Amino acid sequence: MENNFTRESMLLGLGKGVSAGAQIPETPPIHLTTAFTMRDLSEVEQVYRQKEFTYVRTRNPNRTALQQALSFLENGEETLVCSSGMGAISSTLISLLSPGDHVLANRHLYGETYDLLVKLLARFGVQHDLVDFEDLDLVRASMRSNTKMLYTEVLSNPLLSVADIGGLAELAHAGDALLVVDNTFTTPLAIRPLDFGADLSINSLTKFLNGHSDAMAGAVTGSAALCERIRPIAMLLGVPGDPFDAWLILRGLQTVELRVGRQMDNALALARSLEQNPAVRRVHYPGLERNRCHQVAEKLFTDRGFGAMLSFELESDTDKINRFMCALHFAHYAPTLGGVASSLSHPVTSSHSNVPEAERLAMGITQGTFRLSVGIENPQDLIADFAQALEVFTA
Ligand SMILES: *Cc1c(COP(=O)(O)O)cnc(C)c1O
Repeated sequence: MENNFTRESMLLGLGKGVSAGAQIPETPPIHLTTAFTMRDLSEVEQVYRQKEFTYVRTRNPNRTALQQALSFLENGEETLVCSSGMGAISSTLISLLSPGDHVLANRHLYGETYDLLVKLLARFGVQHDLVDFEDLDLVRASMRSNTKMLYTEVLSNPLLSVADIGGLAELAHAGDALLVVDNTFTTPLAIRPLDFGADLSINSLTKFLNGHSDAMAGAVTGSAALCERIRPIAMLLGVPGDPFDAWLILRGLQTVELRVGRQMDNALALARSLEQNPAVRRVHYPGLERNRCHQVAEKLFTDRGFGAMLSFELESDTDKINRFMCALHFAHYAPTLGGVASSLSHPVTSSHSNVPEAERLAMGITQGTFRLSVGIENPQDLIADFAQALEVFTA
């Protein structure tokens, strides 16, 4: 689709600080202001009519600029930037669902998204079912006459199975439902869900898109019609993102192609080397030819890569696991993902700590399962570092 995003339009979008005809600064100014002044009542009337900048929660130049950049990356008509990924997800679901509606969601969901559906929206009469979205027949069979939304992440956490976004969009639309996709693990560099028929693509900008682990925001991208249904509710919930974080994330986006491109290359190289390591029982990465989801991934992912998240399974020996973690020089444990430095997480003690052991083991998640967000380090350093740390298991 047509998108008029350019560097100049982005800077001009920054509003009164930079007006057409004035010199354009090399970097965008930060509009740390809660409001914009107006000279007289005719200007007041004009500003509100033309939806220009008034009050910070309604609209802010830094947020507008970030929204334009994200619409460009996701190939969408419009974007709404919120104060966190959860701000974007909760605004979207609360805006588009009513009591009596049914949401069919992937049973592999980000923890707080699960809580939003199961604990909060259920209290307000929104029904839900959670099924495995890898099985399209099961999704079709689980849709009801009141199903208004299918909701999924592209990659499941932590084993990274791939949801067939194109197939899901067909099912959703055949049942007059919307398909909403959380693209956080994958990023629009790896897949653009809207190109495969998804109605909305959501990103936690806190992760890969900012990339520097120093700002928090989220975004929902899709048609102007849908975004305009979400915007007033986000305003009521008070979640539109703040200007400084928008500025930081826009700065992060200037290198997103380089960073995430390198991260995806590193992920594939590291996955290949872990696959060969006798200490590693299993590697889950959709870019590996023998991965169960490789064919679906080939259909969906851009030729740039298969994302920068991978997971692997080691012997479930806590003492060796601790020694392995301490022996790593580059990857560190951190309860986040998407930064320029590689970071590890341990699902059994974090995302899946509330899942009963039998159920967890049936999913294939053991004490030895690690999830890795691959950074921009030199790939040979990263591979050598894992090889030396994994010697703990084979010595
Ligand atoms: C982190 C994350 C979120 C929530 O984003 P916040 O910015 O932390 O609110 C949502 N979905 C996924 C898949 C995430 O990894």
